[in-house]
Amino acid sequence: MIIVMKPKSTETEVRKVKAIVESKGLEINLSKGATNYILGVIGDTSIIDPKKLLAFSGVDKVVKVQEPFKKANRLFKPENTVVKVQNSIIGGKNLGIIAGPCSVESEEQIVEIAKKVKNAGANFLRGGAFKPRTSPYSFQGLELDGLELLKTAKQETGLPIVTELMSTDYIDKFVEDVDVIQIGARNMQNFDLLKQIGRTNTPILLKRGLSATIEEWLMSAEYIMSEGNENVILCERGIRTFETYTRNTLDLQAVPAIKKLSHLPIIIDPSHAGGYAYLVEPMAKASVIAGADGLMIEVHNDPENALSDGQQSIRPEEFKTLMDKVKIVAEMEGKEV
Ligand code: PEP
Ligand code: MN
Repeated sequence: MIIVMKPKSTETEVRKVKAIVESKGLEINLSKGATNYILGVIGDTSIIDPKKLLAFSGVDKVVKVQEPFKKANRLFKPENTVVKVQNSIIGGKNLGIIAGPCSVESEEQIVEIAKKVKNAGANFLRGGAFKPRTSPYSFQGLELDGLELLKTAKQETGLPIVTELMSTDYIDKFVEDVDVIQIGARNMQNFDLLKQIGRTNTPILLKRGLSATIEEWLMSAEYIMSEGNENVILCERGIRTFETYTRNTLDLQAVPAIKKLSHLPIIIDPSHAGGYAYLVEPMAKASVIAGADGLMIEVHNDPENALSDGQQSIRPEEFKTLMDKVKIVAEMEGKEV
C-alpha cells in the first residue's frame, strides 16, 4: 500500500499518518518526490482501512500495490536510484561502464587491462577472484590473491573494483576491499547471502538468475534492501531459453520493464548474454538505446589464452572502438559516460 500526500501537506501531517500506521506494527518507507511525500507501507496492510487514512488532512490518495516487492518498487520511490562510488556513477543521467577480464590471472594481466579500459572510458574495473564454474575441475580463480591483485590495479588506475562474492565467509574482507560486490547469476537466490550483504553498506551488483523471472529478480533485490542496503544495481546477463546458438538470450525488454517497475539502476552484460565476442558491440549499443544505465564488458589482453571466457572476451582495442560508438549512442539518449 502507498499513501500519497497532497503537494502542500506539512511535515506534521506526514508525521501523524506515519504514527498511526506504525502503531499497527507496520513499517513506513518515506520518500519525498518532486512535489510531495510518498509513504510506502510495508507489512500486512489488510489490517488498514484506506478510507480511514483518507480522513487525515494532507492525504491525497491511498493505493494498494499489487507487486510483492516494496522497497524496490518505483511506486514507493518515484525518482531513480543513483549509485555513486568515488567519481564513478551508475544511474540517472550517468552511464556506468564496468570492464575487465572474466578472471584475474596475474598482476601484469589485470594491471595492463585496467589501464587500457580506463583509457578507453571505463569507470569501474571488473575481474573475478572467486569464480563460479560449472565444473569443479575448471579454474576456480586466484581467490584472496586475486583480490590483492585487484587492489594493486585499483592503486595504479584509481578505478573502483567490482568483483563476485560467493560465500558469506568473505563478507568482511569484501566490505573492506571491494567497491561494488557482485552477486552472480547462480547465487541470485542464495537468500542467506543476500540477507547478509543487505546488512552492509557496500553497493551490490545483482545479476539476474539463469532462469529467473523479472519478479523473482526484484524479490532478490528486495531481500538485500529489506536488510537496509538500498544501493542495488541490477544486471541482466542473458537468460536460458530453447535457443542454444548463443550462450544465453539477452532479454533487452527487461530494461524498460525494470524501469517501469523499479527505481533501481539496470545495466547489461552482453558478454555473458551472447557468449561470443562478435555479439558484444552490437548488443552493447542496443542496450544503451533500450535505456540501460550501464554495461559490464569482459575485456582480455590475450583472449586465446584466457583462463575463463576467452571466447566472449574482446581485446582492449576492440573495447576502445566499442566505447567510441557507445559514447555516440549515449549522447543521443541524453546520457553521460
Ligand atoms: C561473471 O560476471 O564473471 C559471471 C560469472 O557472470 P554470471 O554470474 O552472470 O554468469
Ligand atoms: Mn565470465
